[in-house]
Amino acid sequence: MQLPETIVCPVCFSRLAESEDKLRCLGCSRLYPIVDGLPVLLPGRATLPASQA
Ligand SMILES: [Zn+2]
Repeated sequence: MQLPETIVCPVCFSRLAESEDKLRCLGCSRLYPIVDGLPVLLPGRATLPASQA
């Protein structure tokens, strides 16, 4: 899957990187789910890494 460069994290506006079936923010490390091939860039749906909890 090619990510458009216009897709950024809605929280910190950093670039996103594909990670398995999710998108990982390069800034805050939030993980956004990909549902039916579409990234769900909603802060409420994001998963924060345990290391930042
Ligand atoms: Zn972010």
